[in-house]
Parts: sequence; C-alpha cells; structure tokens
Amino acid sequence: SALYNVDGWGAPYFFVNDDGDVAVRPHGAATLPGQEIDLAKVVARAAGARAGGGLGLALPLLVRFPDVLRHRVETLNAAFGYAVRSTGYAGRYQGVYPVKCNQDRYVVEDIVEFGAPFGFGLEAGSKPELLLTMSCLVARGSPDALLICNGYKDLEYVSLALIARTMGLNTVIVLEQEEELDIVVEASRRLNIRPVVGMRAKLRTKHAGHFGATSGEKGKFGLNAAQILSVVAKLKALAMLDCLQLLHFHIGSQIPTTALLADGVGEAAQIYCELARLGAAMRVIDVGGGLGIDYDGTHSAQTDMSVAYSLEEYAAAVVAAVGRVCDRKGVQHPVICSESGRALVSHHSVLIFEAFSATAPASNMMDPATAYLLDELTDDCRSDYRNLMASAVRGDFDTCGLYADQLKRRCAEQFKEGVLGLEHLAAVDGLCEIVARGMGAAEGPRRYHINLSVFTSLPDMWAIEQLFPIIPIQRLQERPAVDGVLSDLTCDSDGKVDQFIGGRSSLPLHELPTHGTRGYYLGMFLGGAYQEALGGLHNLFGGPSVVRVSQSDGPHCFAVTRAAPGPSCADVLRAMQHEPEVMFEVLKQRTADDGATAAALARAFGSMPYLSFDAEEASAMSGAESSGMSSD
Ligand code: PLP
Repeated sequence: SALYNVDGWGAPYFFVNDDGDVAVRPHGAATLPGQEIDLAKVVARAAGARAGGGLGLALPLLVRFPDVLRHRVETLNAAFGYAVRSTGYAGRYQGVYPVKCNQDRYVVEDIVEFGAPFGFGLEAGSKPELLLTMSCLVARGSPDALLICNGYKDLEYVSLALIARTMGLNTVIVLEQEEELDIVVEASRRLNIRPVVGMRAKLRTKHAGHFGATSGEKGKFGLNAAQILSVVAKLKALAMLDCLQLLHFHIGSQIPTTALLADGVGEAAQIYCELARLGAAMRVIDVGGGLGIDYDGTHSAQTDMSVAYSLEEYAAAVVAAVGRVCDRKGVQHPVICSESGRALVSHHSVLIFEAFSATAPASNMMDPATAYLLDELTDDCRSDYRNLMASAVRGDFDTCGLYADQLKRRCAEQFKEGVLGLEHLAAVDGLCEIVARGMGAAEGPRRYHINLSVFTSLPDMWAIEQLFPIIPIQRLQERPAVDGVLSDLTCDSDGKVDQFIGGRSSLPLHELPTHGTRGYYLGMFLGGAYQEALGGLHNLFGGPSVVRVSQSDGPHCFAVTRAAPGPSCADVLRAMQHEPEVMFEVLKQRTADDGATAAALARAFGSMPYLSFDAEEASAMSGAESSGMSSD
C-alpha cells in the first residue's frame, strides 16, 4: 500500500486488506470492521461466468458505491454545518450538485435523496440537464432545495426554468451574460411568472492552475463591474430589483489553497454587499465549484493533482470570508451555496480493467540464428559494430551510445537502398539492445495491454494530462517485479498510460499469471467526476459494464443492486448512424449460410432487438440482463 500511496489518496475509502486486495470502506471511517468490500470479490461476482453464479459482465467494469456517495454528501454538509455553528455565522449552508460532473441517473437520484435532509439541490448548465434536474427534484427533492440554472440560455431554457417555479421548484436563473436579462424579462412577461435572478460575477481573483482558465478578468464567463451595474439599473427601471437575489462566481476547479479561495470569496462577498446596498433583495452567495481532490495523496498545492486543504478547511475558509466581509459592511449573513461536483462524486466509482498480455521481457542473449547476419553487414557497418563492441568491453558508456546510433542510422540508410534486409535490421537492433542493457542502460518499462479505451474511459488523462491513481487491485502483499506502462485497445498511439501519480513514468506491476482462471486486474480510482460524460467513441469502443454495489450483511458484505452490460457493437455503431440490422442482413447474404457463420456474425454485433436472425440465439448472446437485483 505504501508503494502506491493508497493511504494518501484513498483515505478514508480505499485501503489494502490482509489478503493483499484493495478494499472499500463504504462509509468512510465510520465503516465497521468486517463491513469492508473486497474489490477482487466484486469483480469475481460481476465478471464471473453465469454458470458459476456470476453476472457474466464483460470488463472494463465500472463499480459504483452509493454508500460512498452518501458519505460524501453527509461529510460536505457536516463540514459546512460545523463551520457555521462554530463561528456564529447567522446564515446556513445549502449546496447544489452540478450534474455536469456526472449525469448518471442513479448518481443524481442518490445525491438528491441523500441530500434531502440538508435541503441540498442541483445545478444545471443546459436544457437537457435542466429537464433531468427538474424531474429529479420534483420526484425526490426537498422543497427548500435550490435549482441553479447556469450556462448559455435561450428563450426555451429560460421559459423552462420559469415554469419550474410554478411546480414549486426553487429555481434561480443565473445571468452569465448581460444580454440574458432581456430574455428573462421577455419570458417572464410572456408566461406571467416572476423570476428569481442571480448574477455570475467575473472576479479579478485568478487561479493559476489548468482549471483556472475560467477565472480572472479575461475569463470566458460572468459579468464585470460595469455590466453588474447595468443589470441593476435595468432591473430597477423595470421595478424588478427584488428579483435579484443571488450572486454566483466560479474561480475554477481544483482551487489549490484556502488562501486563494478566501481571496476570491472575499472579493465576491464585497460585490454581494454592494448589490445589497444598491437595493437588490440579496439572499444567497453561490461560491461555485473548486473544492479539490487529492489525486496523488501529497496534500500539496504544487500541481493540479492535489490541493493543500481538507474539505473541513475549505468550508471553514468560505464561511469565515463571507462572514468577515458582511460583518464589516453590516449586511445580513446570506445563505451560502456551493456547487461542489468533483469533491462529491470522484470517490464513488472505481473503473476496473484487466491486463491481459504483456510484451515479453527482453532476452540477454543474441539469437544464434540471427547472429551470423552481423557478418553480412557492409564494411562500414561492420567497422561501427567492432567499435561498438570495443567500447562495450572498455565500459565506455558514452561512445557505446554514439556507435550504436551510428550503426543503426547507417543500417537504416542501407535498408532504404535495398542493400540490407529486414533480418539484418532486426539483428542490429537486437545487438544494440543487448549492449545497452549490458552497459546498465535502463531496459525500459514492459508494456501491459489493457482491455480499455483511454479515450472512452479516461478522457481527461488523454486530453489534459490529468492523472488518476491506477494500481493493481490484488496481490499487493507480493512485491511487484516489473515496471510497466499500459497500452489500450485502440489503434492510436495516444491510447496509452505512461504517466502515473508520484511523478512516475512506469507503474510497479506483477508478472501476469500464466495459468489459472484469475486474471490480473487494475483499478482506476477517483474518476467519478467528468470522465463518464466526456468519453468518446474513438475506435468505436463503447463504455464499460456498470454495477452498483451496496454494503450489505451477506457473507462478502456487499450486494450487487444493479447491473448493466456495456454497449454492444450494435449500440456503438448505431450511435454513429449505422444500421446494424441492415448491416447484418447484408453480410449474412454473403455467408455460406451454414447457420454457424451467421450465428458468429450475430454474436459479434451483440444485442439487436430487430434482428431477423434466431431471436433466442440473439438474446442468449446479449450477456447479463440490463438491470436486476442480486445479492451476495
Ligand atoms: N460550477 C460551475 C459554474 C462550473 O463551471 C464547475 C466546473 O468547472 C463546477 C461548478 C464544478 O466544479 P468542481 O467540480 O470543481 O466542484
């Protein structure tokens, strides 16, 4: 566990148990001994053969832990609750979850349900998000819960947000641009519904990390001082200043320090007080997202991979900064809202995939069948070869490298001219590798192939070089013998993982099992925010199978309460406007029609409801049922 710093980034949810497996404490530190969930057992249950009592799901597998989500929601509310009580702050905390972080139906429903006792609400940034947040809050939200409407808004979006108010939802339309006010006024007149309006302020406080691009004077979003004053004047002229009740800002995700946070919140609180002075009916300050995650377990502000504070320190800094400014200005303490996404959902899921093969370790011996080829090299190449060997015998590392490069370059030129064959190139490459290893040059990491698409499942890793902890989920009592990098299944050279937390360019891994039925599984942790919705279909790899795993009293302490296979080939083809049923028919016409060939074709497409082929066969091949209860 120390090798991978599991206690650093994983606490209080992930740890290595006595069997050497990664296990989950679903209720954090409040998890009772014996209630921990062993990830290897979850994989055995989800991916095991149906005949053996497994669910037969294909990997990669996304395992969701609703108990972890509950714990995150409760911890966030407890932290703000404590900060409010301990400082005598006169307002309260009422947060929202920005669904953009993970719009999965069950994640959103769980957060609303677990947050209902705290009046916890949702934030939407688009029309589809508004529709899903409205229906979820109507069905299971607390009547107090805020529904914050951010993002680009047209008349339809604004009308929907206004209609939501007639359903008893506490909708606030946050103006991201000055022009949106005209749309709000127009929609409100047409529907005869009075809006509650917020404003997003463009702060001067800027966060320097990757996620700070949204902040500062040049940031893309929000209103500057002149625009804020203009909105106030317009609302006043329309006798609607009482509608302006909320001030919002967002410094950026992964705010590195509480010093920067306090700076931004302080600046925003000044604007809040100014709006109150100008006559707006201010009630809520919405501090946006930014509550960070410690991806590498270093608890430092040096990189985007970590932050130098705890959730409790974040809450204390926000409450103190708002309280201080309002007290100085004699303004009543507002309700404090935050839009913490990353901090709520990152821990709740683990992506598990399998390393199914690895490049063979390089041999230290020259293959005798190819060694004679070196004698067939041209004179100048043979002279490089002799110089290379002489330097190697002398132990002269630098000249060795020079002669090896020269030899390879010369051979490559002669290959292009047709003088040397492929076998000669291979023999020379092999020789140079053996010499380099003999000279103590690093052998380089071994390449492990994983059944995953980086583009689909770890998009931030590819796009913005975000790192997530990746570690084997079993055999952690065994010292890993190999340094490896991970190669995904796509035929794209970017489809790899060769940077790991802790500044490593390889990952300590075990030799793959050579026999037995158990595979070698790796887990990617802390990826519950943003990754699922951002992932694309590069090479048409679909998403993972998903299971929802709750803590239970069964023998293994868990129950799989929902299971969904990943998309079939037919599903992903359909997403690109292909028609798998038609494709199948076309291909079937060309088969020898012995039944077995068509069945193999149908299996390759996966589940197709309209398949004209034997329906029984098709349903048998579609894998596990799309949802269902099963307990362990
Ligand atoms: N609110 C707004 C306006 C955002 O743009 C974002 C994301 O960047 C969030 C909230 C969520 O931020 P975080 O995931 O850092 O909590």
